[in-house]
Amino acid sequence: MKYIDQNKINNLLVSEAKVDTARLNSILSKAKALKRLNLEESAALLSVSDPGYIQRIYSAASFVKDKIYGRRVVLFAPLYISNLCGNSCLYCAFKSDNLSIKRKALTLPEITSQTELLLKHGQKRILMVCGEAAPEGKENVDYYVEAVQSIYSAEVGKNKIKRVNVNCAPLSREDFKKLKKSGIGTYQLFQETYHQETYLFMHPKGPKSDPDNRLDAIDRAFSAGIDDIGIGVLYGLYDYRFETLGLLSHVEHMERSFKVGPHTISVPRIEPAEGVGLSLNPPYKLSDEEFKKVVAILRLSVPYTGIIMSTRESPQMRDLLLNLGVSQISAASRTSPGGYSDLEKEDATGQFSLSDHRSLDEIVKTLIGHDYIPSFCAACYRKERTGEAFMQLAKPGTIKGKCSMNALITLKEYLDDFASREVKALGYKLIERYFKDLDKKDQERLKLFFSHVDSGVRDEYI
Ligand code: SAM
Ligand code: SF4
Repeated sequence: MKYIDQNKINNLLVSEAKVDTARLNSILSKAKALKRLNLEESAALLSVSDPGYIQRIYSAASFVKDKIYGRRVVLFAPLYISNLCGNSCLYCAFKSDNLSIKRKALTLPEITSQTELLLKHGQKRILMVCGEAAPEGKENVDYYVEAVQSIYSAEVGKNKIKRVNVNCAPLSREDFKKLKKSGIGTYQLFQETYHQETYLFMHPKGPKSDPDNRLDAIDRAFSAGIDDIGIGVLYGLYDYRFETLGLLSHVEHMERSFKVGPHTISVPRIEPAEGVGLSLNPPYKLSDEEFKKVVAILRLSVPYTGIIMSTRESPQMRDLLLNLGVSQISAASRTSPGGYSDLEKEDATGQFSLSDHRSLDEIVKTLIGHDYIPSFCAACYRKERTGEAFMQLAKPGTIKGKCSMNALITLKEYLDDFASREVKALGYKLIERYFKDLDKKDQERLKLFFSHVDSGVRDEYI
C-alpha cells in the first residue's frame, strides 16, 4: 500500500513491544508538553498492557484533551442521501449484492426536507454520507454538489445549516474542485484498513478494490484545495495496533506532503449490518478496553486533530471517551436515506443498526450533566481557519478560548430555540458557571453576543 510501510509497522510492533517506566515517563512527558509523538513512541504506547501504565496513559490523554479542547463537544448529525453502491465491502449493508435492504437515492427536494427536519430539532452541522453510485442519469460529483446545495438552502425560522462535511467515495482532482466550490467543510474518507491483504479481501469488487486509489484520493482532495480532511480506520477488520500505526503513518505522509495533518480522525467500530454476516462477527472485534486505549493513544499522538465518535456507544463509554480524547459526536442519527421522516420507524434501509435512539435534547442534557459544553459552532470554517491556518491557531492554545466562547453562544441559541424546559434550566446554569471562569474582557464580549441572541440574531461567532 502506497505511503504505508507494512514492514516498518510490523517491525515496530516487535521492537517496541516492551516499555519500562523510564520510557513511559519520557513519552508521556513529551505528550503532556503537547508535542506530537513519533511512530516509535505511539507503537510503544500501543504495546502497553499493565493496568497501572494504562491508567497513566488515560490520565495523560485526559490532560491533553482538557488543555487543547477544554470541555466543549461538537455535535453533528449524519444525513444519508443514498444507499446505492457499486462496491461490495464485506462489512457494509449498502454493498451491491446485499438484497436485504431497499435501495433509495433521495431527490433534491427530499434532501432539503430531511435537512429541515434536522434543523427543527436544533442540528446545525451535517455529515452528508452516501454509497458509491449516483442515481440514474447523474455523475457522482453532480449529485453530491446539488445535494450539498440543497442542504445549505434549507431554512427553518432563522436557522440554517452552518457546515456540511462530506463522506463520499473518492473523486478525481477536477471533481474534488467542484465539491470544494459547493462549500463543503471537511472531506472525510476512511481507508478502513491499512493492512494490504485485509484490504484486498474486504473489498473484492468495484472501484473501492484499489487501496492506492483510495489513499491517493486524500492527496487529490488536498491538491484540489480541500484542506480540512478527515481520515479513519474501521476497527474490527485487522489488528488494532497495526491499524493505528497505519493511520499514523498516513498522518505523517500528509504532514510531509501538505504541511498539515488531518483535521479529524474517526474511530468507527464495526456495527451489525442487515444481511451482512461479517458485521456480526468481525475478525478482529475491538474490545471496550482496546477502544479506550486507541482513543487515548491517538489523543496523545496527534494532540491537535479532532477525534470523532458515534453516539452508539453506551453512556459510560461515551463519557470516558470524551474525557480521553473524543471531541465531536454524532447525535440522534439515522443511517438510512430518508430516515429522519419517522424517527419511530425501523431503519430498514440503514447502513448499520443503531441502539441509541435518544433525541438531540436528551444527548445535550447528558452532556450538560457531565459538565460538557455542547457546541454547534462552525466559526473556524466560516472565518477560513481551516487546514494549516487552523493548526497554527490551535497550537498555542488560542483556539480553546475562542472555541469555548463560540460554544457558549451556540449553546444559548440552541437552548433559546429548541431545548425542552428541563434542558433550558440546566443549560443556562452551565452557561452561568462557565461565564464566571472568563476574564472580564471576554465576559463583556460574550454579554454583547448574548444580547444579540436575545434580540433574535442567530449564527454569530468570534
Ligand atoms: N461509500 C463511501 C465509502 O465507502 O467511502 C462513503 C460512505 S460509507 C457509508 C462511510 C463509512 O461507513 C465507511 O467508510 C465505513 O468505514 C463505514 N461503515 C461501513 N459499514 C459499517 C459497519 N457495518 N459498521 C460501522 N461502520 C461501517
Ligand atoms: Fe458502498 Fe461505502 Fe458501504 Fe463500501 S462502505 S459498500 S463503498 S457505502
